[in-house]
Amino acid sequence: MGAEGKKVAIVGAGAAGLFAGCFLKKEGIPFVILERGDKPGRKLLLTGHGRCNITNNKSPKMLKDGYHEAGSYIYSAISSFTPEDAVSFIERELKVKLKEEENYRVFPVSDKAESIRSALVSYIGSENIVTGFCCIDMDKTEEGFVVISDRGDKVEASEVILACGGRSFPETGSDGTGYKVAESMGHTITPLIPALASVEVSTKDREFTSAVSGVSVNADASLFCDRKKRATGTGSVLFTHKGLSGPAIMELSREIPRNIASSEGWIELDFTPHRSDEELDRELLQEMEGHPDSKITTLASRYVPSSVADKLGERAGVTDLRAKMVTKNARKELLKVLKHLPFHIDTPPAYETAYVTRGGVALKEIERKSMGSKLVPGLYVIGEMLDIDGVSGGYNLQAAMSEAFIAVRDIME
Ligand SMILES: Cc1cc2nc3c(=O)[nH]c(=O)nc-3n(C[C@H](O)[C@H](O)[C@H](O)COP(=O)(O)OP(=O)(O)OC[C@H]3O[C@@H](n4cnc5c(N)ncnc54)[C@H](O)[C@@H]3O)c2cc1C
Repeated sequence: MGAEGKKVAIVGAGAAGLFAGCFLKKEGIPFVILERGDKPGRKLLLTGHGRCNITNNKSPKMLKDGYHEAGSYIYSAISSFTPEDAVSFIERELKVKLKEEENYRVFPVSDKAESIRSALVSYIGSENIVTGFCCIDMDKTEEGFVVISDRGDKVEASEVILACGGRSFPETGSDGTGYKVAESMGHTITPLIPALASVEVSTKDREFTSAVSGVSVNADASLFCDRKKRATGTGSVLFTHKGLSGPAIMELSREIPRNIASSEGWIELDFTPHRSDEELDRELLQEMEGHPDSKITTLASRYVPSSVADKLGERAGVTDLRAKMVTKNARKELLKVLKHLPFHIDTPPAYETAYVTRGGVALKEIERKSMGSKLVPGLYVIGEMLDIDGVSGGYNLQAAMSEAFIAVRDIME
């Protein structure tokens, strides 16, 4: 079927909706983007700390592991529109030059997310974007769909692409209203959980984190719930006034249950992940024997910044001790805080700090090759609304682009 007689309505002008608009524009298919906010791409401006980590230039085979349980589901999309395709599209069509940094992360050369956002909007044409349209309902008709706003405005369309985002950073517009629309069309929403989020620790443990707030350390983090290890995060940890953040923490946040308050949960930090307990113990012993007059916290600062070493010394009860005065038990206490330092959690992470939402429109109801609904012909769901969340590093924007691409490809066919 050709493009004749088609008019596609895209609901949501985030990354997924805007890229879908670009692909439709390129193919000459009429479309309109309906956005509830007063401007398109608000979340896009926040991405990559304002620099927009637009993709991760790995092969689809390597990339898929970053999407957790949805890895094999999304493989079809990311191999149809790969990170290489994304770079080529953005450079050739949107005329934004990109650069690759550490760990395959790709950013605009300008280091400004705004350059991606404004290029998307000018490629699409602002006349194709309607702002202030909050979709609350949809009717399926013989010809297609009628998309209905909270003010009663109606837009007719032959196909609809839902791209309303998840629930994270709701002030950018993605407050979860899209899920209700999907539900009204018969779709199931799997449980929603803030992911790639910072974690608040118990008031008692906050005394530690707030004292070293702003300090980042190399550490691995393990999440324990009811004494069972549930997840691990690697890389670095950032101490904040209210608790913990940074890549290692954000990576495991998707595993923190919403009912964490009713179970015993904590995050254990390991500041020397490349040494076993035994190796570290031997190393500490050697250091203490080699530097008998050094303060124990000075020795600990070989592994962590000195402000953190001071707090560790307090936790281990060895503050002000010289190495020669340290007993075997005191050394074990020091080892414990260097390798197994617990921070208790009694509240689940908040959507306000979550970069993405885990859960969403159930994948079993969406065709993996097209993002088309298996329940409602002509309806597509893309982006964070789906039950797909990726690790950080450009994975989530790549998912949004690839899903937008295959949805438009299907509409074309
Ligand atoms: C701080 C931060 C930094 C991030 N950094 C990166 C990064 O560097 N790289 C990366 O890959 N990912 C990053 N992400 C994740 C990434 O931004 C998202 O996964 C991505 O934006 C999802 O795109 P989306 O279009 O599905 O949803 P969104 O970008 O959330 O867009 C959804 C749009 O739909 C609109 N909308 C919602 N409901 C309705 C409705 N009912 N009617 C009409 N419009 C509606 C919203 O207003 C919004 O404009 C980051 C996220 C955050 C919060």
